[in-house]
Amino acid sequence: MSTLFIRNATVVTADTHFVGDVLCENEKIISTGLALEAPADAEILDATGKFLFPGFIDPHTHIYLPFMGTYAKDDYTSATTAAVAGGTTTFFEMCCPSKAETATEGFATWQAKAAGKALCDYSFHMGVTRFDADAPTQLRAIVKAGIKSFKIFLAYKGAFGITDDELFAALTLAKELGVVTTAHCENETVISELQRRLLAEGKTGPEWHYESRPPRVEAEGVHHLMSFAETTGAPVYIVHLSCREALEEAIQARLRGVNVRIETLIQYLLLDKTDAERPDFEGAKYVMSPPLREKANQSILWNGLRQGLIDTLGTDHAPFDFASQKPMGRKDFTKIPNGIPALEDRVKLLWTHGVRTGRIDLQTFVAIASTNAAKIFGLFPRKGTIAPGSDADLVIWDPEATTTLGVSTQHQNVDYHAFEGWELQGLPSYVTVRGRVVVREGKVVGEPGWGRMLER
Ligand SMILES: [Zn+2]
Repeated sequence: MSTLFIRNATVVTADTHFVGDVLCENEKIISTGLALEAPADAEILDATGKFLFPGFIDPHTHIYLPFMGTYAKDDYTSATTAAVAGGTTTFFEMCCPSKAETATEGFATWQAKAAGKALCDYSFHMGVTRFDADAPTQLRAIVKAGIKSFKIFLAYKGAFGITDDELFAALTLAKELGVVTTAHCENETVISELQRRLLAEGKTGPEWHYESRPPRVEAEGVHHLMSFAETTGAPVYIVHLSCREALEEAIQARLRGVNVRIETLIQYLLLDKTDAERPDFEGAKYVMSPPLREKANQSILWNGLRQGLIDTLGTDHAPFDFASQKPMGRKDFTKIPNGIPALEDRVKLLWTHGVRTGRIDLQTFVAIASTNAAKIFGLFPRKGTIAPGSDADLVIWDPEATTTLGVSTQHQNVDYHAFEGWELQGLPSYVTVRGRVVVREGKVVGEPGWGRMLER
């Protein structure tokens, strides 16, 4: 079956919406409009009373992740199963070589982890974790292979973090190649000094993670990146921005002409620092960097999305088991593997808490969950919209369907759910990836191997 006909949907893109039909053939959208004729051999999906969105794009995930002495739990099959179950049909993974690996070796490793296992499409942001004499040649080849974005860490001293010399060199190369550099912005020196002080005072629980990375630490990281972006002229993208102080630094830079895009995460909109203060070490489930913030930041971030100050919504998906991995830091919060699982439920949560509450409109919903990431990272209009010629990545969304989130029903390979017991209304009922139905009546039916690495 290579012809798919979606009938009578409320078709929504970042620019417009209309009630009509969508015809797809051989992985692509062929036409959209009112009362189109369905070819005789087409599979017909009736979407009366339902929305049709372009497949959602998560700009920031970790699938294969050796980190803090362990590995994130998902592989490409479990991660992409979770992704499509939630309507995400494309994601970006951070390719994060260790200091011992070259860029070429790291890129090969990450590609091999994904090959033949994915139900949906994916791309990488190429981690620049060291910038030695070989790096420029290798990075040029990786960009040529279709990976047109870098990832750098200003935090994680001694692991992924790079020096200022390396930062300047990487951004200079990025500017020359015309690629966007995504950046984790926190000041690593302040973090390590605060960690040392807290531990010396016997403050070892997960609730102290926040105190080691207060908002000013993130704002300083953003300020630092902005200065380097301004002086090199390189376009940059701040990942996982969490608070007002950091947003102010980014907006100030934007006013000076710095080419900066901003991502926040679903968890910063809906969770806050009290989650990481839950008793009996449960707070460890919510340890991530930057940390969950004071609740007052949530309305600022929602407003930033609504006003277009913040461009994208990601997850920084990084699942570590509560029973066996988070306890690595039971006596020392600096050793708790950072991250939460969220890839599966990002868009469902955004719908219930963003669209249904009236915080954002339908166009903003599509823009921040799909279209903007496609535009920033060179996938538009192949991905991120519903138009003739675009890939047939589509989500039929049932606004009446309800669910309760929980560890027992998730597809993510991890032993807890960060939003356990949350009740949602509005779910994907059908999802297609390049014209193939991968979710049917809410059930994942896609097969590993259909997903491809996207060359950009
Ligand atoms: Zn990340």
